[in-house]
Amino acid sequence: MRIFFNGAAQTVTGSQYLIEVNGQRLLLECGLFQGKRAESFERNQKFRFAPETVDAMILSHAHIDHSGNLPNLVKNGYRGPIFTTPATARLADVMLRDSGHIQEQDAIFITKRNARRGEPPVEPLYTADDAAQVVDFFSPVNYYETFIPIKGVSAYLADSGHILGAASIVLDIEEKGRAYRFCFSGDIGRNNLPLLNDPVLPVEPDILMMECTYGDKNRDEPEVAHHEFGEVVKRTIERGGKVIVPAFSVGRTQELVYTLNQLISAGKLPHIPVYVDSPLSVQASNVFQSFPEYFDEEARKFVVNGKHPALNFDGLTYIQSVDESKALNERREPMVIISASGMAENGRIRHHLANNINDPRNAIVIVSWQSPETLGRRLADHNRWVYIFGEPYEVKAEVVTINGFSAHADQAMLLNYAKAALPKAKTVILVHGEERAAKPFEAKLREIGYEDIRYPQLFDFMDL
Ligand SMILES: [Zn+2]
Repeated sequence: MRIFFNGAAQTVTGSQYLIEVNGQRLLLECGLFQGKRAESFERNQKFRFAPETVDAMILSHAHIDHSGNLPNLVKNGYRGPIFTTPATARLADVMLRDSGHIQEQDAIFITKRNARRGEPPVEPLYTADDAAQVVDFFSPVNYYETFIPIKGVSAYLADSGHILGAASIVLDIEEKGRAYRFCFSGDIGRNNLPLLNDPVLPVEPDILMMECTYGDKNRDEPEVAHHEFGEVVKRTIERGGKVIVPAFSVGRTQELVYTLNQLISAGKLPHIPVYVDSPLSVQASNVFQSFPEYFDEEARKFVVNGKHPALNFDGLTYIQSVDESKALNERREPMVIISASGMAENGRIRHHLANNINDPRNAIVIVSWQSPETLGRRLADHNRWVYIFGEPYEVKAEVVTINGFSAHADQAMLLNYAKAALPKAKTVILVHGEERAAKPFEAKLREIGYEDIRYPQLFDFMDL
């Protein structure tokens, strides 16, 4: 086989790997490359292969950095199946339409700015309409269901415990009289994440291709983060304040809602009003709730014994409409508001921050990594003044950063993953990781006995 590393090679964005076997082409992932505007536009628009020449595609999970360029793939002529789990198909559909909407809004904003500068208008990378075309190509397969994406390749998906429906991809390849197993980890989750099963470890691959996003770091157990979250909610409510949480719509929001559900039903928190205020978060939560069979045993028990859904409880309100969202501003009683975007750069969260930031009774809780130059990062860095909608605001609310939240395996978990493959795997290929994460992880892999460790550059290819 030959594999081309067209994205998420020595970086974590724009996952895309093209495999050629038996004269056919199989694409793994089609993520959106996110970086500087002009470069991103160019990279996402232009594929390094003709999309119509690809015979089949497999998608590991719905996150935009893995799925977000599918609308362009289809727009540019791809007509084959997109194999993925039923939950990922549903989540990706919701997320891609939202992403198309964001691309359109973005293009309108830039076009207006350009007009002021006498520069030409810009086109959106793709529209919500383009995104809506992708759903027809999804070919859902359950975990462990065998399928034949291309000639001579038998495949199945295994639960990677990262977000709902996320999978690692196993390919049993027969080519030129040789049979071997290639396993791609997708994004690897963590043990004991709420709602989700623990990641399934690889089974006897000859070649393991794995992510190494946090190959350099170990992290607190998820329970520690949940406890810290409960504590800040408790003390804020006790002093009569509101808790404002910028959170990613898919994954983190559901984790927080489920955690609050558990804490309240165990009597560790009082019955308080909780609002999830983001159309995408609401849609994603609906998808989560339609796949209870994907939940881990603990969540299924909680649902059965508590006789209530995992992501619904008395006092919890999902908000879609702008009017309902604005009405929250008038409310004075203690409450929790979970809203997107996760880095507070856009979306309704900015209104909630603007309305609540200068009251010392309130708390702003940061529950994910914040990229530099974002409002979320400025808050996490405890800037005394921040700008929201171009206006300065003094930060008087308590700002709490909880580091233990993550849907990604840490170094120890990644090492366990690689170790499970070791008896048979001769080659390990590291992808989806920056050098500062990959290099320390590579050293660990050598310690446990790997000799052939590859760390391909962007646009490299390999014959295996
Ligand atoms: Zn992911």
